Amino acid sequence: RAKASLTQDVCFYEADMDQAVRARRRVTQALREALENERFELHYQVQASVSTGKATGYEVLLRWKDHDGRYISPADFIPVAEENGLILPIGEWVLRQACRQAAAWAEPHRIAVNLSPVQLSHVDLPRLVHQILLETGLAPSRLELEITETAMITDMERTTHVLRQLKALGVSIAMDDFGTGYSSLSTLKAFPFDKIKLDRSFMTELDGEAPQSRAIIRAVLTIGESLSIPVLAEGVETAEQLAFLRAQGCNEVQGYLLGRPQPEADALLNGVVRIAATEAAEPQAERAA
Ligand code: C2E
Ligand code: MG
Ligand code: MG
Ligand code: MG
Repeated sequence: RAKASLTQDVCFYEADMDQAVRARRRVTQALREALENERFELHYQVQASVSTGKATGYEVLLRWKDHDGRYISPADFIPVAEENGLILPIGEWVLRQACRQAAAWAEPHRIAVNLSPVQLSHVDLPRLVHQILLETGLAPSRLELEITETAMITDMERTTHVLRQLKALGVSIAMDDFGTGYSSLSTLKAFPFDKIKLDRSFMTELDGEAPQSRAIIRAVLTIGESLSIPVLAEGVETAEQLAFLRAQGCNEVQGYLLGRPQPEADALLNGVVRIAATEAAEPQAERAA
């Protein structure tokens, strides 16, 4: 009985593996096809200053439109693209397309582009970014690159070297999803980041009874202040969250409360208006420090 069930488990396991491998192959094929046929789109999500309520920039978020016109989330295909190397041409497309679009905007808003750790370790990124800036005419000060600490962990020395070269071009570097990894604090020590993006998981937990998230948010804001690095809170969905962040002296916010990621034209139109409305609806709280 025990033996039979073990064999059965192994069979199930192999069937699962087989299925997983085939699913990955299908996704790889579809990604290649999407790249060739330009089925990718960029959406933009507004970021705003807590004190002025004005837009400070837009995060660029990749979308894959399938044949039925539905958007597939990057969380579902970026890991596959990182595994099969397609993140390199896809990431280059994102950078070029984002810089090109932003260069044509009437207002010189900053854009924030996500970088995969694979791009940091496999491409001459400073050269590529330099080339794309020249090609599109976007001012380097309008480009911010977001990296997660995973990129730092894999090869700290090489990564900090690449980041320094990128900064020398005049672009800024943000630490994304801060507080979720294993070594967030040592990462801050290794490189002078221009911004800390506090992960949205802390926002979700703010609504619960647990006081820990509040304490952690306060601590991160104190760290940012001590190091003179502005902190942006991700995933702000409610007016209560915004009020708490404002009272604690958070510099910038991003989240559904201000606007969802949208095609560029919509994002540029709606962002500022919705922030103004939010701002007006908020009682003026005391700003700590
Ligand atoms: P991220 O860089 O942390 O981006 C923020 C994610 O949070 C986005 O998910 C955004 O839609 C979502 N978000 C924003 N505000 C809220 C909110 O108030 N509530 C909730 N629940 N979610 C919110 P998205 O667009 O699905 O992207 C997921 C991740 O995929 C990104 O996380 C980023 O790591 C990656 N990604 C997106 N575009 C690119 C890209 O062009 N290149 C690379 N390498 N990665 C990308
Ligand atoms: Mg990001
Ligand atoms: Mg993030
Ligand atoms: Mg994230």
